[in-house]
Amino acid sequence: MYQRIVFLLILSTIVLTCKKSSKDDNSSLVALALASSSLTASSGTCNGSTATTGTTVTASTATLDSTSGCVTGVTTCMDTALPSWIKNNFKCATAYVSGTSYVFKSQNVPNTKSFYYGSTSPLYETLPSGNTAAGTNKVSSQKLVYTIPATATKGTGTVSTQGGLASIGITVNGLAIFNNAAAPPDNLSVEALTFDNYGGHPQNSGVYHHHAGASKITNNDANLVGIILDGYAIYGKKCDNGTATTTDDFTPTLDSLHGHTAVTTHFPTATYHYHLAYDSTATIDTLMGSYFYGTTGSVSN
Ligand SMILES: [Zn+2]
Ligand SMILES: [Zn+2]
Repeated sequence: MYQRIVFLLILSTIVLTCKKSSKDDNSSLVALALASSSLTASSGTCNGSTATTGTTVTASTATLDSTSGCVTGVTTCMDTALPSWIKNNFKCATAYVSGTSYVFKSQNVPNTKSFYYGSTSPLYETLPSGNTAAGTNKVSSQKLVYTIPATATKGTGTVSTQGGLASIGITVNGLAIFNNAAAPPDNLSVEALTFDNYGGHPQNSGVYHHHAGASKITNNDANLVGIILDGYAIYGKKCDNGTATTTDDFTPTLDSLHGHTAVTTHFPTATYHYHLAYDSTATIDTLMGSYFYGTTGSVSN
């Protein structure tokens, strides 16, 4: 009798899990199997054709979808096999497990108003007072694909964040992270005077990105900002001390790569992660420094 009850409980759990899926049941069964074992194969929930390519968002007609919190036409899909710190926090991108990597795909258009949508766009707004435009650069829809190691591992600490990479990380709202450098000969502290009201701007082919504070996500707090190409998490200026309360958040002492090893609410075992911090190269606060801590994955666009 006891065994029958246990069997029925397991069966009903599986049926309930499948019902929750908005896609097809086969891939969620695979995802379920992966979630309870090691990450060995593509789990598939979020790597269908729509999620893979997304739609091309037109800046001049872009609007916000209040339900998704993303620009209309931007896909959010977080594979069930992803760890909870990713699937519970990231949106305006799709992500899934493939082999020993997490794959993120992003259209990379900001889910905020921006000067860089252009004056005819519903999402246009003026720059912060005192700032000037970054040339004629405008936001445009991208097809960024990040392949990030699922198990982050310490590297040499000497791999430059400026390797001609399309992006060095992705924020929780699906946007590109750039490093502490500006386009030569500028220093980033000068280029910061072209940032929009949310601390971002596009480069000359329309890739919107954050080098510094991402004010939509973090303002002197311990919020999760995103994931870096080496698989380590990045947070705001504070560390959360491994607790949900903000009263014990503290300003961490960091290494030269903006990181340290500590517990956070997402990592109960002390784990390396980065923080937004003052950067001596940029002479302003930046998300990343000049080098990666870990062994990096790859990115294409
Ligand atoms: Zn830039
Ligand atoms: Zn920390």
